[in-house]
Amino acid sequence: MPRNPLSVDAYVNGILAGDRIVLGRAITLVESSKPEHQAVAREVIGRLLERPDKPADSYRIAITGSPGVGKSTFIEALGTYLVDQGERVAVLAIDPSSAVSGGSILGDKTRMEQLSVSERAFIRPSPSGDSLGGVARKTRETILLVEAAGYTTVLLETVGVGQSEVAAHSMTDLFLLLLLPGAGDELQGIKRGIVEMADLLVVNKADNDRIALAKQAQAWYRNAIHLFPAQSSGWTPRVLTCSAQEKNGIDEVWVAAKAYRKLLTDNGGWTENRRRQAQYWLREALHEGLLRTFYNHPAVRQRLAALEPAVLEGRMSPFAAAEETLRNWTIDSIDSIGSIGSIER
Ligand code: GDP
Repeated sequence: MPRNPLSVDAYVNGILAGDRIVLGRAITLVESSKPEHQAVAREVIGRLLERPDKPADSYRIAITGSPGVGKSTFIEALGTYLVDQGERVAVLAIDPSSAVSGGSILGDKTRMEQLSVSERAFIRPSPSGDSLGGVARKTRETILLVEAAGYTTVLLETVGVGQSEVAAHSMTDLFLLLLLPGAGDELQGIKRGIVEMADLLVVNKADNDRIALAKQAQAWYRNAIHLFPAQSSGWTPRVLTCSAQEKNGIDEVWVAAKAYRKLLTDNGGWTENRRRQAQYWLREALHEGLLRTFYNHPAVRQRLAALEPAVLEGRMSPFAAAEETLRNWTIDSIDSIGSIGSIER
């Protein structure tokens, strides 16, 4: 953290003015595990969300696929295409392995050479954290910050390992899955559930001697999606091919993304989706907060320390011990709520 912390006003004004250094510092606050940093971050985000003159929704797009499918290359291609169209593009990432390594290979600027030097693009690697939930929450808050700084498209990169896609799906408008030419999903190591979440399926590397294989994969997935449950939004997922390396087919991807946005905007699905996501994150934050409050509570700690040995030695059932700990916590919490009430009166 820089030694001279900025005031909440300075963060808010800097972000609204599109100052990248202030934006970067605000994201660092969001990513910090220190409660005092998080308190400032919350205030900054609160102020940004409250402002009356908010611009139209940005377009939040998750981009996922197995390692090596070409996510970084695709983001470089789509990102520069969008910048040329006048968009301002933020690239973020959710990488659960950063929870372990403390660093991230995703969103690596050196892999997005053109985009990283663009005035109209902002690239931020995945936050680290001790759980996927923590990493995802930080990314979700970072989205709000980059939007306030004027970025109109958010490309959220995620690795194809399962849970991080679910997190990315819960904070984006469009879910784009990159695929390899040729193989069906079981051969590509992608879980069917992930394929079912996709709004756009894009077979990448459709170039040189792989064009025919890419077409084959396209036909295979077009068939496969007919068997999936229909999306409640009324959208039928589209299957396209592209070459991120040759920058071929990127415009078709964007045409499809715009068609998706138009359909959902017209039928109310867009707003409905964002409301559902806000509700999901409210509940997630509550769950997280409840767990933390619970485990830090003195009565709980005391009870657990007393009961755990009995459970481990088989003298008490785990369920009875949990029940008793919860009961103690509830009674104690009600007592303390009662006493706060009496002070206020
Ligand atoms: P990621 O791991 O999904 O981010 O994949 P990368 O973007 O790092 O790409 C993995 C490899 O595939 C690199 O060597 C890229 O140069 C190559 N690659 C990516 N896109 C294409 C493409 O459209 N065509 C071809 N032929 N190679 C590609």
